Amino acid sequence: MNENRTETADCVVVGGGPAGLMLGLLLARSGVDTLVLEKHADFLRDFRGDTIHPSTQDALADLGLIDEFLALPHTEMSHVTLRYRGRDMVLADFSRLPTARKTIAFMPQWDFLDLLARAGEREPGFRLLRRTRGAEPIVEDGRVVGVRAEGPEGAFDVRSRLVVAADGRDSDVRAAAGMVPRKIASAMDVLWFRLPKDPAERQPFVHAGDGTLIVIDRGDFFQVAYVIPAGSWEGDAESLAAMRTRVSSLVPELNDRVHALELDDIKLLTVRLERLRRWQRDGLLAVGDAAHAMSPAGGVGINLALQDAIATANILGPILRNRRPTERELRRVQRRRALPTVIIQRVQRVLQDPLLGSAAASPKLPLPIRALQRIPFLRHVTGRVVGRGIRAERVRIRTAGETSAGLAAPGPQ
Ligand SMILES: Cc1cc2nc3c(=O)[nH]c(=O)nc-3n(C[C@H](O)[C@H](O)[C@H](O)COP(=O)(O)OP(=O)(O)OC[C@H]3O[C@@H](n4cnc5c(N)ncnc54)[C@H](O)[C@@H]3O)c2cc1C
Repeated sequence: MNENRTETADCVVVGGGPAGLMLGLLLARSGVDTLVLEKHADFLRDFRGDTIHPSTQDALADLGLIDEFLALPHTEMSHVTLRYRGRDMVLADFSRLPTARKTIAFMPQWDFLDLLARAGEREPGFRLLRRTRGAEPIVEDGRVVGVRAEGPEGAFDVRSRLVVAADGRDSDVRAAAGMVPRKIASAMDVLWFRLPKDPAERQPFVHAGDGTLIVIDRGDFFQVAYVIPAGSWEGDAESLAAMRTRVSSLVPELNDRVHALELDDIKLLTVRLERLRRWQRDGLLAVGDAAHAMSPAGGVGINLALQDAIATANILGPILRNRRPTERELRRVQRRRALPTVIIQRVQRVLQDPLLGSAAASPKLPLPIRALQRIPFLRHVTGRVVGRGIRAERVRIRTAGETSAGLAAPGPQ
């Protein structure tokens, strides 16, 4: 262990999740010497955001990674189907999106993160230190000038022009910097579990009525999310029995499989909706879940985190190559990304009650769903909102000497 060890980088990114790895890759491609710190040894994590939206796939195409992405095991969904009290319908249709890719891809998050890490490691300016935790910002004269880190060989300092907190919704760096997110009321939690299936079996994506169940077809199993009132899961036999009964009444075909579930098979996601008022201070910027924890409703968390990373690289990449960004320049990232974040969090908040459903609910179709059935064109509108998002970012990598926007060719610059 070398207590005096100091690393330097133009930018240090704390957290190797979707936001951190994408940002590391993009900055490295722009010629910014970038160090990503990831506290875990690998990316293996189950029941995390696994949805890669069409706009994100277009960003992968911009980066020359789409073929490598599509070669990995995944499933695709071209429209969102709903079974509401026994009636089947389409909620969103991606077929007319103004994107090159017109499906949502479901891919285990670890495969996707491995892909980003591999692409990063092909760039000379990219370094990823695994099993290394970013602990607290180093502050001098009121400015953040780096981060203290703890790796397998002990503690060390990283000095940099910018520290990016991309360390998720429980961000250590954000907390150590005294940045506290504002909590937005969350009424729901989500139970995740897997159910075996025959490869040919199909289920609608959303089952709704007295509660909501999302069924993601992963080829040889269903990944299922069941929405419950916040704080109602006790993790005991009684909660399990109640859950089995409600899920079986919502989707009778799953009855046998749901009754075979044991407590250990079920993962609770405590849903948090939060947002920082200011995403930056001098020398430090928070992005992704560290800036705004999202509800899993709509499966947009990863995509929003990736879009933050793209916007950050577009805005700050050319600056970081040469100098430290000013606080005003850092604020441009929040100004660019706040609108989609606020709108999506509002929609997620409004969706909480319908997602929870109610036994006393009227058997009549809710008005928005009726509108989608009467006016089929609206399904393309919902498809656009879900599939492309609000203010979709395109990758603009400017290499040294370039001043105007344009896509850089993949590969080392
Ligand atoms: C159970 C669950 C299900 C979800 N389902 C969906 C879904 O279906 N679709 C969807 O789009 N989103 C979903 N989300 C949300 C989605 O996973 C997140 O919004 C997205 O991963 C945010 O990306 P991020 O890079 O900002 O943060 P994270 O993915 O949280 O990544 C943060 C990274 O930082 C690392 N880290 C943390 N602290 C430190 C530290 N101090 N030093 C170094 N490294 C650190 C972590 O190990 C992690 O790798 C789900 C989330 C959960 C928890």
